[in-house]
Amino acid sequence: MSVQQVNLGFEPYLATVRRRLLDVFGPQRDAAYADPLDVMVLAMVSSHTTDDVAAAAYARLRIRYPSWGDVARATTDDMLELIGTVTHAESKALFIPQALRSLRACSGHLSLDFLDGWPLHLALTWLDNLPGVGPKVAATTLNFSRMRKRVLSVDTHLVRVGERLGLTPDGSTFGRALESYMNILPNDWDGEDLYEFHWLMKMLGQQVCTANYTRCAACPLADLCQQARLREPANELQAA
Ligand code: SF4
Repeated sequence: MSVQQVNLGFEPYLATVRRRLLDVFGPQRDAAYADPLDVMVLAMVSSHTTDDVAAAAYARLRIRYPSWGDVARATTDDMLELIGTVTHAESKALFIPQALRSLRACSGHLSLDFLDGWPLHLALTWLDNLPGVGPKVAATTLNFSRMRKRVLSVDTHLVRVGERLGLTPDGSTFGRALESYMNILPNDWDGEDLYEFHWLMKMLGQQVCTANYTRCAACPLADLCQQARLREPANELQAA
């Protein structure tokens, strides 16, 4: 997975996007600094699933199995009992114990702390190769956890909003959208900034620019948005 940074001149644009989203949604910082393996399993459970359903499933899993060693030994049927409400439950019930067993076989421990000293691209690739762990879960694990590596967690909201703004190509996979974002994010944004940017864009995607409707008239990014301009030819003339 390539997350090499190139300078395409997007810094002023993204600085404006960030400032406007901060004005609407406020700072999105997190001092919890969660354990990387906890973050990885939660991200696997959460994929393509609403936050409340995923949180409930993850809570059931942690109550039934207090240690990740217990989860590594769990059968698919046992896992389905606990996380059966999430999207793609069958594959997640299979892959989560498999990923934990692979981690232990490769590193000798049920811990991801060893990745903290690794270069970003190697850590992403290593995680991406675990069963059921794609680019989205890998990036989320490295950025949302106490590692706070400088990589953006790109979920369905960031893919959709990124396409509408013109930041990512139409029809992007998570991996392609991640590469696009990482190519244009300002060099001086660190892991904390990318964590916050994820949540700002996600809140816009949940409340204003959703999968089912767009509230462009109320959107703080309307004059910066490719899709809004395409819909309103008069805006293009005004901006010219
Ligand atoms: S202007 Fe409309 S399409 Fe563009 S980001 Fe805002 S809500 Fe989405």
